[in-house]
Parts: sequence; structure tokens; C-alpha cells
Amino acid sequence: MLPKAQQNTKIVATVGPSCAAYDQLVALALEGVDVFRLNFSHGSHEEHEDVINNIVRLNQEHNLHVGILADLQGPKIRIGNIEEGEVVLKKGEEIVFTNRKCPGSAEKVQISYENFPKEVKKGERVLLDDGKLVLEVLSTDRQIEVRLKVIHGGKLTSRKGVNLPDTSLSIPSITEKDYADLDFILTQPVNWIALSFVRKAEDIIELQELIEEAGHTAKTIAKIEKPEAVRNIRKIVKHANAIMIARGDLAVEVPMEKLPTIQKDIIKRCIERSRPVIVATQLMDSMITNPSPTRAEITDVANAVLDGADAVMLSAETSVGAHPVKVVEAMNKIITEAEKHFTESIQFSLPSPKSRTYWSDTVCYHAARMAQEVDARAIVCLTTSGFTAFKISSYRPIRTKVYVFSDQNDILKTLNLVWGVRAFYYDKFTSTDETISDVVQILLDHGRVTQGDVIINTGSMPMHKKYRTNMLKLTLVD
Ligand code: PGA
Ligand code: MN
Repeated sequence: MLPKAQQNTKIVATVGPSCAAYDQLVALALEGVDVFRLNFSHGSHEEHEDVINNIVRLNQEHNLHVGILADLQGPKIRIGNIEEGEVVLKKGEEIVFTNRKCPGSAEKVQISYENFPKEVKKGERVLLDDGKLVLEVLSTDRQIEVRLKVIHGGKLTSRKGVNLPDTSLSIPSITEKDYADLDFILTQPVNWIALSFVRKAEDIIELQELIEEAGHTAKTIAKIEKPEAVRNIRKIVKHANAIMIARGDLAVEVPMEKLPTIQKDIIKRCIERSRPVIVATQLMDSMITNPSPTRAEITDVANAVLDGADAVMLSAETSVGAHPVKVVEAMNKIITEAEKHFTESIQFSLPSPKSRTYWSDTVCYHAARMAQEVDARAIVCLTTSGFTAFKISSYRPIRTKVYVFSDQNDILKTLNLVWGVRAFYYDKFTSTDETISDVVQILLDHGRVTQGDVIINTGSMPMHKKYRTNMLKLTLVD
């Protein structure tokens, strides 16, 4: 059975107690989830392994290529436990943050970052619980304790996140917890590994080295949620394999009014560099409890689609929400309608002859152009690396589907995140003529093309040499 939704913009759904069971994951995949996200800020390795096994099984049983994204917590700072479970901080009051263990109260709480007293400065802001509470640094002893004044008070509960938008932190980008999580993740069939709170390209390069050392094929996602990452965006987009606009923390760390234009700018840069880009957090937040989204949420999802994002992501809506399947159904409706109004706003930019991959770049560019000119039904890519799929997708050929045929099972799942790309397993790369007639037959069997359609094939000749893409062909389905 095919998933109901076959739209271009993909859906990433976070797995949690509301949907971790096999039947629930199947229901979500058939409703149109393209990639499942495992959030390593929560859950044990055993729990994540159960979910991964369920996804592997559902892909086999339903002949799907749903991808798996492992999301590392990164250098997230939290407060310790609050002894009474909950305290109220009042405007104007003072509170002490200490890097030593202490029973948390309205007067004193622990902070998980050892160097906090050393690196924070008087006058800097400390935000708690996604910015709901705002504190200001009064003084620090530079070793153990920091005195703060409550600027905006409210309820505070155990282990809430801390954001330090004004402070330059020396905290390592990959923490002890991340290393331990990676030891597990790199034994698993995950397709994407995301790193939270990336600040510079080197953070992602370090992650890529760890993945390579382990001999794993997973690709990296840089989560943009720090002002430093926004400043370093050019280099981060160059090195990361994909980007997540992690608006939950980002909107707390940058002036909130900048969020919409930062989103648009990052999406544009990613499309120009053929990097998949995910818009994340609070897209359908009210559906954690309600059966339908708010006007603002409907518009937010539609705008992410119109901006050209590869994927939109659900967090608590599917992981702990009351209506996981309904959220995906509603999201799909919004995406499908918005895509009708998506114009090829992305200008065709000619590939640079200086590029190392100029030949395949230019084949991809002309495949997308030609698809427009001849009104092709599909562009069919034969690929081992997935390179052509990333490239052709980035031209956002709205009236033409991109079908990928590959014998690399992990690549098929990796590509499920990518705008407009649908992948098929195929391993008989004997001759070009034979392969092209095979893939046409497969697409006919799946109802993806019909007689009289024009399709464009890309691939590499001679086939057995497995060169980069160097071939472009027009085929009439007869
Ligand atoms: P998180 O990342 O859910 O891991 O915090 C997403 C975000 O910050 O938006
Ligand atoms: Mn975050």
C-alpha cells in the first residue's frame, strides 16, 4: 500500500510515547510521514532501538523508504531539580545559580554548565523555559555562583532549558552524552544525524569525522538555533549535508521579530547549495491537545511550503500529542493546497564551470530546464550517491516528479527527506536501454506514469563504470 500523500514537501515526525508502537508508526507512515525523528534529549537507547526496529520492519512490510533521523541533544544547558517540583519566581527578586548540586528553590538552583560563572557577564540575559522567564546577571564570583535578578517571572519546574543569547560559551559542541549516544547511533541504520546548537562549520565537520571513522553512511543536519550559527550560516550550509531551522530555541536566542526573515534567508541559501532544509517546531503546536490547528499554524505551514522548504517537522504534536495521525492528515491538506500556488520562484542559476562536479551539475540543470520545456511527467535519476537527486530537487521542478532508482538501500531512505523525490530499489544496471525500459515499466506498474507521458532520464554511461551522471535522455512512455 502506498502512503496517501505524495506531495513534494516532506513531513518529519518526532517519535515518542504517543506513536512509538508498531501499529501507530505504520499509521503515521501511511498517512504520509516521510522521516521519523528520534530525539536523544529523551528516552533510553533500548527505547530508541525498539523504535528503529519498528521502522525497519514497517519499511519491509509495506515496501516503503521512510527515513530515520537521530537528533543529538548537543550542548543544551538545563537547570537542576526543583525540590518542591515547582516554584514561582517574582519580578524584581534575586536568585542564585550554582554549578554545585543543591535542592532547587526560588532562592537557589543548580545549572548544568560548569563554566557558567566564569563565562557569563554582568548585564547579560538568562532565559528559562523557552524564554518564558527572563533573568539578568547582577554579579558572578567567576567560580561557583552567579546572582541574577528576575526581569520577567513565572513558574519554574525541574530540568527546564536555559538559553544564554548574550554569552559566548566555550562549552564543547559534542558533549559526553552525545558521544555515548553516537556510540549507539552509529551501530544503527539511521540516515540522518542532527546536531543541536551548532555554532560553526567545524562542529559539523567533527560530527562528519566521527561518522566516517565508524564507517557509517549517515548524513549530517546542522540545527540552526544560536545567533552564532546565523552569523556563520554561509560556511555551515556549505559543510552540512542538510539544515534544520530549529525555531524553538532560535526564536528565544535571536530577537523574535527576526525569525520569519531568518527562515526565508536560510531556505534560500540551502536551495542555492542543494542542501535539504527542514522548518521545525510549533508548526501545529495547538494540535498537541486540539483536534484542529489555529489560523496562525495553518498559515505557518503554508508559508514554509511557499518559502520552498524540503520538509516541515512535528515535535510534541506526534511524540506526546493526543492526535498524531490527525496532525499529519491536517498538515498534508495544508501542504497540498499550498503547493498548488508554489511557483518556480527559484531562478535557474547556471552551474559554474569551475565546480569539481561541473559535468553532472550541468546535466542536472538541463534536466530540470528541459522538464519545463517539454512538460515532462517525471525526471528519472539512476544514482548510487544520490547526488543527482539532491541537485535536481533543488531546482524545484514543480510540475515534474523526481524518481530515483538506486541499489543503495540507505540512499533511498536518506533521499526521502528531499523535496519532491520518491525512490525505488533497482539493481540491474546492465545496459542503458534495458534499464530505461525497466524503470519505465516499474513506474507504469506503480501508476506513476501513463502512456504518452514524456520522461527525462539521467544516469551515467557506460553503466558498469559508475561514473558521475553524464547522460540525459528523453523517453516517450509507450
Ligand atoms: P529541539 O530542537 O526540539 O531539540 O529543541 C528543535 C528546536 O529547538 O526548534
Ligand atoms: Mn532546540
